[in-house]
Amino acid sequence: MSDFILYFGPLELAALLMGLLVSTVLIIFIISQRRRRQEFRRILDGFSYPAMLLRRGQIIYANGEAQERRKKQEFEEIIREASRAEESTVRTSTTEEGHVIQVHMIRLSNAESLLILEDYDLAQKQHAFYRNFIQNVSHELKTPLTIIQGHAAKMGDAPDDRQGWLASCRIISDETKRLTQLVDNLLTLARLESPAFGLECAPLNFGSLLEEAILDISELAEERQIALSLNLPAGLPRINADRARLKQAVLNLLDNALKYTPPGGEVIVNLDNDPEKLHLVCSIRDSGEGIAQEDLPNIFEKLYRAQRIKRRPVEGSGLGLTLVQQIVEAHGGEIRVQSEVDRGSTFTFTIPYEAHRPSP
Ligand code: ADP
Repeated sequence: MSDFILYFGPLELAALLMGLLVSTVLIIFIISQRRRRQEFRRILDGFSYPAMLLRRGQIIYANGEAQERRKKQEFEEIIREASRAEESTVRTSTTEEGHVIQVHMIRLSNAESLLILEDYDLAQKQHAFYRNFIQNVSHELKTPLTIIQGHAAKMGDAPDDRQGWLASCRIISDETKRLTQLVDNLLTLARLESPAFGLECAPLNFGSLLEEAILDISELAEERQIALSLNLPAGLPRINADRARLKQAVLNLLDNALKYTPPGGEVIVNLDNDPEKLHLVCSIRDSGEGIAQEDLPNIFEKLYRAQRIKRRPVEGSGLGLTLVQQIVEAHGGEIRVQSEVDRGSTFTFTIPYEAHRPSP
């Protein structure tokens, strides 16, 4: 039997330590590279237009938009051409369909670069949209603020007029509620459109949510002389849903129903169960002014406000129904509307027992 003698001296120890050091540095380098790439992926996924990370001219990551466009030959050409540039560049290309594309090539290091293809026409349209959006929202903010300012000044000028004070306090409180609802709608819209948005679901009695929403809005209904009623069948199942978001959707629909119904009218809320389709069906019917047929396909669009029948002034920000639709769809439900001018409108939406994102 031969003896195996392992000699472990200072040189071997130094080699072992060196080996350990090199592998630790290597592991740290690989992990940091991976983290950096993940970080880039997150950034690229946040772009609404095609964006890619290239290494020595080869695409190592392309966001969803870029993967869609890469199927077209002409985009392959644009990418190949841009990746040849040695410096960061911005150039303009026109596609076969006549779209003007701004190609941004950003050098990150000798090997890596970022390629962004910005649809110039679309960007122009988006700029116009946001200009319009800011104008509408500013107008919606300015109206209640002017009213509040006016009544606060009136209260200061006549501190002994008790009746006047009470009336002003009420108006200030109503206008503050309107402002709060507008700001809530804006914040929710920003949240719903963020890639990180997720519902906060918990077991929920939808019937009691409707009772609560009706109670919140009953004073306004009384003031506008509109009869508000709720039909709730017994034995409805509990659902798993985001309470705060659903209440906001219901309040927006109720608010519209009251806003577009003249005094003496009625608003009826119904809740039903569909055990076969595993969802609840909620409808909000009003006997108001109704919506013209040509406006019906557009009312869920962001900022859309229908021309009002009988030339009454157009109120609101045009955000309410967009939010309602997004909230319902985020739960995996659907919303539809039926309406007849001068007879009223019915908004009907479904909410699955178990919230789920609809399949694309
Ligand atoms: P807004 O906050 O401006 O009311 P919405 O998005 O809630 O915006 O509604 C969009 C448009 O749909 C409104 O401008 C209005 O013309 C119409 N609309 C919504 N609900 C009703 C309703 N119950 N009756 C009549 N018209 C309605």
